[in-house]
Amino acid sequence: MQVQCFTVGNFSVNTYLITDEATGLSAIIDTGETEELRNRLKALMPAPNIVMILLTHGHIDHAGSLALLQEEWDVPTYLPKKERVLFDTLPMQGSMFGMPHLNRPCGRVDHEIEDGFEIMLGQTQLKFISTPGHTPGQGCWYDANDIIVGDTLFAGSIGRTDFPMSDPRVMKESLRRLFELPGHLRVHSGHGPMTTLQTELQSNPFIGYIREEKGMPRGRSLRW
Ligand SMILES: [Zn+2]
Repeated sequence: MQVQCFTVGNFSVNTYLITDEATGLSAIIDTGETEELRNRLKALMPAPNIVMILLTHGHIDHAGSLALLQEEWDVPTYLPKKERVLFDTLPMQGSMFGMPHLNRPCGRVDHEIEDGFEIMLGQTQLKFISTPGHTPGQGCWYDANDIIVGDTLFAGSIGRTDFPMSDPRVMKESLRRLFELPGHLRVHSGHGPMTTLQTELQSNPFIGYIREEKGMPRGRSLRW
């Protein structure tokens, strides 16, 4: 599939338009919290054929403009089931981050999904792996070559685990599962540049414990 990144909004969040090359069908993954993504997608020529919206998690920068996007693309929308508790706080999340003007309506969720969920985007098989820890139900969407990870993993870092609904112990287990996936997968994060699972497995300082468990040199490693 083709992966296009749009960095938008107050938090420089990476949102994605993924497209099945065989059929031209596209999905939006994550939304930003402003009208920026909607406007940038509307300006694309030719117009993308958007048939679904997928969310990684319910933080305002990732799900805040869902309602705005659905005004333009009234398509089935998928949210990790365990993320509902956080998603439902969107009308207060701006205030929680000290920016009440960013409080947002929730938008519509059509399907609450769980670990192992699979869906076809045209001829591309998309899978969902649940990777909670940063939030209660965050997850990643992937095919044979690319994985969109939200705030689970960044180039050289990982998602914060000091938010009210975060859990570092759960995050450690989620990262273990994530690094069972093939190393060649290109990692498209919620913030910052693209990387691969293999690159992060070799050098990310937050996963020294995984290197050790796999019998690799622990390398530069931070405790958290
Ligand atoms: Zn987040």
